[in-house]
Amino acid sequence: MIEGKGQPGWRPTAKGMIMAYGLTATSKIASDKQLAFVRDLSTDRVDTGINGETIETIMNVLEGKIVTSSEASSAITDLLKQPKVIKDADKIVKSVAPGLLDGLPLSNYAVEIAGEGLVFLKIAEFKGTIYLRQLVGAPGDFKKIKPVGARRVMLAEAIKAVGPKIAAARYGAEFTVCGACNSPLTDELSRQRRIGPVCYDKF
Ligand SMILES: [Zn+2]
Repeated sequence: MIEGKGQPGWRPTAKGMIMAYGLTATSKIASDKQLAFVRDLSTDRVDTGINGETIETIMNVLEGKIVTSSEASSAITDLLKQPKVIKDADKIVKSVAPGLLDGLPLSNYAVEIAGEGLVFLKIAEFKGTIYLRQLVGAPGDFKKIKPVGARRVMLAEAIKAVGPKIAAARYGAEFTVCGACNSPLTDELSRQRRIGPVCYDKF
């Protein structure tokens, strides 16, 4: 637990983050100036749902989680491309398949996809935008991939086909983490072993 966490404007010290999150000493943390700019832009620009990684970064900034300098920098670049609130509001182009995620509760899901096996998904909301991400286990945390076009439609329909409650329960049943380092596991072999590929090689 880090002192002051959760309080407005709180930001951990680099040393605290290294200790709490196991960051390497060389990870460059976003500057106060960068974080303030991301905050300003997040209220100043309309999110058209173009870039999911940007949404994640903004959420982390607002929640006081660690954001690296390069994450902040790419979020700023993406946000600067977004239309300004009010002024360009009616220029926002709606994404393909509007209403695709209607009726699907904000949740984690797992669905069987032909040729891929079990696919882990998340439906979440940021500032009124509902978005779908594929969760791919990666050392440390999930990598959140934004499915687009036909794939986005296919994955959302797969949740609907089995029913959201069953797909959410499947996530609960199938979600596993690496026994050695707590990284979420999504590939079949790692889930069977209960140890991720990187840690597996250590034993
Ligand atoms: Zn591991």
